[in-house]
Amino acid sequence: MPARIIDGKAVGAAVRERVREETIAYEAAAGRVPTLATVIVGEDPASEIYVRNKHRACEEAGMRSVHHGLGGETSEAELLELVAALGEDDGVDGILVQLPVPDQIDPDAVVGAIDPRKDVDGLTPLNAGLLAHGNPGLVPCTPAGVMELLRHEGVELEGAEAVVVGRSKLVGVPIARLLLAANATVTVCHSRTRDLAGTCARADVLVAAVGVPRLLGADAVKPGAAVIDVGMNRTEEGLFGDVDFDAVAPLAAAITPVPGGVGPMTIAMLLVNTLQAARARNPA
Ligand code: NAP
Repeated sequence: MPARIIDGKAVGAAVRERVREETIAYEAAAGRVPTLATVIVGEDPASEIYVRNKHRACEEAGMRSVHHGLGGETSEAELLELVAALGEDDGVDGILVQLPVPDQIDPDAVVGAIDPRKDVDGLTPLNAGLLAHGNPGLVPCTPAGVMELLRHEGVELEGAEAVVVGRSKLVGVPIARLLLAANATVTVCHSRTRDLAGTCARADVLVAAVGVPRLLGADAVKPGAAVIDVGMNRTEEGLFGDVDFDAVAPLAAAITPVPGGVGPMTIAMLLVNTLQAARARNPA
């Protein structure tokens, strides 16, 4: 039987609607509106689009958003000064510095300077550490979105064999930690993994976060597995995930398409995090 196609657009829209309703209730009770501050340094067209979409999503959810666009020549010290000022600004609940930043700026220094209570990307060492300790604070948006999709699909995680391909700080590692916290038995693969397809083929739950178009084919998927494809790879032939969708869909029990799978969840979870950060700092 062909796989169920997991509709990230629909799940993301439902999360956004839930956040909108909760935001209205929060505003009525707390007398303030959750506010996201975004920062872009330089003129990266992709970053401009991502951030514009985040502002639109905030508006639709009834949240406020403010943007700081800094010139490409901005120094690390100037950016750190802005990040510190946003941290001290009581009206700001979430701070998002869109990566990448220009070469003269160390992204780790910038992320490390964000007030962890306002770290809606979940990337500061404190939030990464809380996640590692199994006591999550603000969780990175894409990994949180992956978990929301698995929850929504009713995928059994307790005791399941889960394989995550990719070990980035932003995606692979936090997904692995969240799966572990959900009591899955987790294996993390990366570029030095010896038998990638064989290891993946053990998985009841396979998550691909690699950045190589259609890397994982039918030989990497156990029949009946749930397959979550985080990859977003632009090629001359179009946008592809890390999974060869056409080859894998007939085998899997459920699979996310690209686009329309994990992608729409990322912004939805950013809104969840912004509301969570607002509630934590200013309870209603
Ligand atoms: P990344 O930082 O480049 O990490 C890629 C990971 O994949 C690394 O751990 C790397 O291993 C591993 N890898 C690379 N080639 C491999 C191979 N041939 N076999 C096995 N493992 C391999 O990328 P990322 O930021 O995690 O992003 C991963 C993908 O997710 C990208 O396509 C990105 O566009 C997408 N993404 C999507 C969303 C969304 O909203 N849908 C959000 C973020 C990212 P090593 O550690 O050994 O180098």
